[in-house]
Amino acid sequence: MRVEYRYCPACGAALGERRIEGRSRPACPRCDFVAWGGPQVAVALLATDAGGRLLLIRRGSGEGQEGWALPGGYVDGAEDPALGAARECREETGWEVEVGGLVGAYHVLTGDGPLVVLAYSGRRSGGAAAVTEEAPEQLWVAANEVPQLAFSSHSRAVSAWRSQISRVA
Ligand SMILES: [Zn+2]
Repeated sequence: MRVEYRYCPACGAALGERRIEGRSRPACPRCDFVAWGGPQVAVALLATDAGGRLLLIRRGSGEGQEGWALPGGYVDGAEDPALGAARECREETGWEVEVGGLVGAYHVLTGDGPLVVLAYSGRRSGGAAAVTEEAPEQLWVAANEVPQLAFSSHSRAVSAWRSQISRVA
């Protein structure tokens, strides 16, 4: 579940409400803290090899477990999301990927609150296949052979990516 602040994480005072730009927000009566409640940001990577095949992982844990998905995860703190996509891919699959352009941004409402998924294209540039707890299995598939994916945002990203590559070809 999404964590709702009850106390100020900056000074520890019990939060009250403050009206800001016409909307009521949980806010600290003692300092400047406001719980804005914005979405979390995650990334997904559409990594291809020299033959144009797409990298998929089988999810080893968490939401979508057992299903196929793109490599990806939550952006870490101040990290550039594009670098986060490369990092998640390296951690999950062992592959180094040169991240290219943004394929799309997808808004998802999850049990943990709103989420924005940024999907990037990328090209395999090095590394070697590694089996990890997060991704016990990996698969390189042709664009027209992508199986059902565990997340709607990933399915939408694959559709957008397919239409981008078919325009180039
Ligand atoms: Zn405070």
